Amino acid sequence: MAQKCIFGPIISRRLGSSLGINLLPHKTCSLNCIYCECGITTNLTIERKEYIPTLEVMESLKKYAASSRFRNAPPYCITFAGWGEPTLHSSLGEIAHFIKKLFPEQKLVLITNGTLFALHEGLLEEVKEMDIIIPSLDAASPQALQMIDRPHPQITLNSYLESLASLRKHFLGEIWLEIFIVEGINDSEKELVSLKEKIALISPHRVQINALDRKPAQEGVKSPPLTRLEEIARFLGGEVIPSLPRVSTVMV
Ligand code: SF4
Repeated sequence: MAQKCIFGPIISRRLGSSLGINLLPHKTCSLNCIYCECGITTNLTIERKEYIPTLEVMESLKKYAASSRFRNAPPYCITFAGWGEPTLHSSLGEIAHFIKKLFPEQKLVLITNGTLFALHEGLLEEVKEMDIIIPSLDAASPQALQMIDRPHPQITLNSYLESLASLRKHFLGEIWLEIFIVEGINDSEKELVSLKEKIALISPHRVQINALDRKPAQEGVKSPPLTRLEEIARFLGGEVIPSLPRVSTVMV
């Protein structure tokens, strides 16, 4: 699959109009979530490096900033997302700084699985210019972590929680914690009670409950019905992320 640096703007379920930034070749991540909409992780790694040339990303952004597409319909935000875990790119901080200067009116958003903040010194410093960080946490037990997120061997539940706590402690912007609910794995009372305790330790600004919206990486993955998701959201002190009509994504 050819690599793309920027895509959209798309209408995001949470963020409205959003230009996406992809910093990774398909599919590079520290997790291999069974529900991933990008497919199976083929490069399961915690190594930070320049997976896509930083200059290529900056050139694409400059081109977009000078385009009539941007002038006529500027997006609400610019979001690091794409084909894997954005914090694996070793120039994330440099690119974030570049974006803040080039697009001062747009919110800068990072969608991340949040696993790497305790494993890589300096990463917290690199994300300080984000306006909103959306990390995820799907599991409150090592078993659920293995069943849903299938992490790199160096990531444990403890290192994951430590990573999210450290992000909350040092990051001054908004943190919206995303929890993906998989039927039969993390929707039991025991798991949810434990998740609630972990959420209290992290103390995010918002808790957002996510469920299948597209084809998952693993066949057979199911989300509970909406009424159950709403019940879970109430219990965890959060909200269910609404579904949107399907829109096409323009890769540029
Ligand atoms: S963390 Fe995100 S990109 Fe990585 S496997 Fe999970 S859902 Fe996919």
